[in-house]
Amino acid sequence: MSRIFNFSAGPATLPESVLKQVQSELLDWRGAGMGVMEMSHRDKEFMSIASQCEADLREVLAVPANYKVLFMQGGATAQFGIVPQNLLRGKTSADFVLTGDWGKKAAKEITKFGKANIAASAEAEKFNHIPDRAGWKLDPNAAYVHITTNETIHGVQFREVPEVGAVPLVADASSDIACRPLDVSKFGLIYAGAQKNIGPAGLTLVIVRDDLIGQTLPGTFGIHDYKAVADNESMLNTPSTFSWYVCGLVFQWLKAEGGLSAVGARNERKAKALYDYIDSQDFYKNPVKKEDRSIMNVPFTLANAETNDAEFLKGAKAAGLNGLKGHRAVGGMRASIYNAMPEAGVAALIDYMKEFVRTRG
Ligand SMILES: *Cc1c(COP(=O)(O)O)cnc(C)c1O
Repeated sequence: MSRIFNFSAGPATLPESVLKQVQSELLDWRGAGMGVMEMSHRDKEFMSIASQCEADLREVLAVPANYKVLFMQGGATAQFGIVPQNLLRGKTSADFVLTGDWGKKAAKEITKFGKANIAASAEAEKFNHIPDRAGWKLDPNAAYVHITTNETIHGVQFREVPEVGAVPLVADASSDIACRPLDVSKFGLIYAGAQKNIGPAGLTLVIVRDDLIGQTLPGTFGIHDYKAVADNESMLNTPSTFSWYVCGLVFQWLKAEGGLSAVGARNERKAKALYDYIDSQDFYKNPVKKEDRSIMNVPFTLANAETNDAEFLKGAKAAGLNGLKGHRAVGGMRASIYNAMPEAGVAALIDYMKEFVRTRG
């Protein structure tokens, strides 16, 4: 068996030690005589897996006690609609700061229930930066302010949590949750699909402040009501048990790696190595303003894309570097370097990029 370096944006690479543990427990989870996929979610074995995952997640992300942690399904895409159903709370609109395509999708989905006020947008500049906070047109009567902490397609990431006053801040953190320490108390709600940085697809994490739940719009399904989900410990119906279990192992791995400050420092080193190389020459380019560059997703273009892109991808694959094709919306390449991508993977990518320029540039 030989494993590649997988730069896919999601589903994405997982820590090898976690996969090995899953493999060793696949047929018989710790003497249960069955694997986790086969367990009833009501069994005491699975209940212990679920509660251990929440405890480890709370520890790793330093989630304050007045926040609920919910394990839902439907991905971040379902949350684009579920968030307004729960958080409009009698108000008619929410503010959106658009830094990429995912935020645009969230702003579109709220219109079934209320109004999206676009407080700021970088779309006219092809989402190559975060609009300056001073220019945001926030509405004091908005139900919440929505941001995308990391725009996966464009490679644009908030470095600081923006101050938005008394209106709750809501974040789609699908592609950068747990990439470095984060002050959860600055948010009203954080949501994230698991399949970028914390586990297999199928699970959606929601971290929400207690006082914001329990006021859903009429017509909201029970399974989409955060209060009902919280009251039933995310087991109103059958949860995504296997993904929940693997996410739990990933949170244990994060603890063993030294927690988010150690993992965040490693992520910063990986991103810096790649951006430093890109900035040091003229063949590859990244269009994002330096302060707003993502440490998780690094898009880059090649000179003479028409002739070089296909060759680059072909050679990368032969060198064991996969998943580098950029999103169709922006073209070029994208290296997703989530928590589980080792520094050796980034070094191998940079070596390959240098070699490609040397032979074909
Ligand atoms: C991947 C992604 C989504 C969509 O996630 P699904 O789980 O496919 O619904 C939404 N927002 C961001 C920032 C993403 O990276």
